[in-house]
Amino acid sequence: MFHTANYPFIIAGPCSIENREQLRSVTETLSSDPRIAMIRCGVWKPRSRPGGFEGLGEVALQWIKELKEEYPQVRFCCEVAQPQHVEQCLRYGIDAVWIGARTSGDPFSMEELCQALQGTQLPVMVKNPTAPDIQLWIGAIERVLATGTSQVAAIHRGFFMRNNIGYRNNPLWEIPIELQRQMPQLHVFCDPSHIGGNRELIPQLMQTAMDLHFEGLMVEVHPQPAEALTDAAQQITPQHLITLLDSLIVRRSDEVADKDLTLLRQQIDQIDRQLIESLRTRMEVSRKIALVKQRNNMTVFQPKRWELVLEKDLALAQQMGLDNTFVKELFEKIHGESVRLQEEALTGNKKEIQ
Ligand code: PEP
Ligand code: MN
Repeated sequence: MFHTANYPFIIAGPCSIENREQLRSVTETLSSDPRIAMIRCGVWKPRSRPGGFEGLGEVALQWIKELKEEYPQVRFCCEVAQPQHVEQCLRYGIDAVWIGARTSGDPFSMEELCQALQGTQLPVMVKNPTAPDIQLWIGAIERVLATGTSQVAAIHRGFFMRNNIGYRNNPLWEIPIELQRQMPQLHVFCDPSHIGGNRELIPQLMQTAMDLHFEGLMVEVHPQPAEALTDAAQQITPQHLITLLDSLIVRRSDEVADKDLTLLRQQIDQIDRQLIESLRTRMEVSRKIALVKQRNNMTVFQPKRWELVLEKDLALAQQMGLDNTFVKELFEKIHGESVRLQEEALTGNKKEIQ
């Protein structure tokens, strides 16, 4: 289900089904493009606050069923959050379902949903939970796999954080990359719409997803995006999506034998070795410092010294054209490890590394 031979698996459709005409018009346009593998449509909408449009429920499923008779080659998927949603999707012949970000992070809801999915063989896509916790995401996928369905995919839709630097949900690309590493057989798709939250960002996010080896995309489209009842700022027209697909660069995921690549990779391996050796030396010096601090009855953590170190390192990094946030996060980690080792050297207690 979640695989196409030579092209990414493209899912597109409205955030929510709002009326029969809207669904028909989206289906007409998308079904004319063979690159679109499946239509997404929200039937039950999880809203942060009460009072908004919460989806049309069963009547929308009936419209999908009617359209499927007219367009038998078109596949449709919907979001499910409760066991009765699964039962209704099965009753109306929905081809696949996805589990949303608010549900995948709740193990109790996942258990209930998976009981309804048990033995059905319904293809399931699992969005990442809103919190950047890879274990929760993997746990949700494992629960779905345990239902016996062989067709499972993950969808990266970004993470809710206080500082999202221009995105609705921070992409934190390292998390889906780590998921791909830990579950190499899993199809991993990207949802640029909920990451961006703004249609201006969709083209670059689609391209980044392709460059990062995502196997597919889920994009929200609406015939009149600005008038959409949900997620109006991030939807694009179906025609706009087709134009974006025309310019999307799909890169090869297999290895090529290029001499330059081999040489550059040798350089990277060598630099990594130097980095690790430097880190080892730095930690050895840290341990020695711990003993000196002990002799002088000083605390292990010295805020003024840490502030100076960080200031000096950030200034140097800036001179060298390195990204400030990256260097700050890196040195916070290194300093944290240094403090942990000094504690260990003084107390003899091994603390668990988080
Ligand atoms: C959606 O796909 O419309 C949706 C509600 O997404 P998410 O669960 O990623 O917020
Ligand atoms: Mn949406």
